[in-house]
Amino acid sequence: MDTYRIGNIGIRRVEEWQGEFLPPDQMFTGFSRELFDQHAAEFTPDFYHAEQDRYFGFLQSWLLDVTGTRILFDTGAGNDKPRPGIPLFGGLQTDFLQRLADCGARPEDIDIVVCSHLHVDHVGWNTRLIDGRWVPTFPRARYLFSAVDRAVWDPTIAQPCPSEIGAAVNQQVFEDSVAPLLEAGRAELIEDELELLPGIRLVPTPGHTPGHLMMHVTSGGEHALFVGDILHHPIQARYPDWNSVFCEHPVQARQTRREMLHQAAALEALVFPAHFGGQHCFRVSRDGNTLTPDLYPL
Ligand SMILES: [Zn+2]
Repeated sequence: MDTYRIGNIGIRRVEEWQGEFLPPDQMFTGFSRELFDQHAAEFTPDFYHAEQDRYFGFLQSWLLDVTGTRILFDTGAGNDKPRPGIPLFGGLQTDFLQRLADCGARPEDIDIVVCSHLHVDHVGWNTRLIDGRWVPTFPRARYLFSAVDRAVWDPTIAQPCPSEIGAAVNQQVFEDSVAPLLEAGRAELIEDELELLPGIRLVPTPGHTPGHLMMHVTSGGEHALFVGDILHHPIQARYPDWNSVFCEHPVQARQTRREMLHQAAALEALVFPAHFGGQHCFRVSRDGNTLTPDLYPL
């Protein structure tokens, strides 16, 4: 499933990678095998490969056409990147740009790039390697991301402060995928909630990283929430207290996840996480404090 619509806003999914990742007991904190197994059938095979006991997920970007303005939300892992902290995403050679072209967008057609946060798998195609230098992939685009996340990882400022897990997975990421945008004058740092375009808001949703952003899209009375890594797997829509091991501020991540899910239920929003399989989006319903994800809402 690759094409979606919210009111008069067209949305395309641009896939970069799919595959098996960690076993669920290594993927989540607060994990209960018993609770997971109760729901495993709902997740198999689109979100979980039972025989291998592996989380199954995607790297994907979202291309929005907002009355002619093209927004790319999250940019995957990128090609050619050295990734000692997470070799699975190092040295990739995918045809992501061809898939983007198949959706009708060349690099020079992208007006705005938004990174939900600055982890390795959300910033990769910000840049590409040309003649031995990392240069912005989308030459006309404004690149928007959080000032807080920049401050966490930028080694040139006084006190970069990544968590242990953030420092581990993000080795070399800032240098090859974020710093070149700052140097080229193409980055715009988001401090607070921002109305990017009519019907498109960037909303701080801290926890997974300190500066994580969600994009709230509204058109024609419909809502979509592009939630990045607020959650990685549908089990977290049932049990919002389960963090991924990559969540940098665990208490805040749980609170943000719960708030987002309740908001999504109230708005009857389509929720687009960064890494979901299936139809790559879901809705959530709420009965008291019980949350139930509808994984095939279309
Ligand atoms: Zn991610």
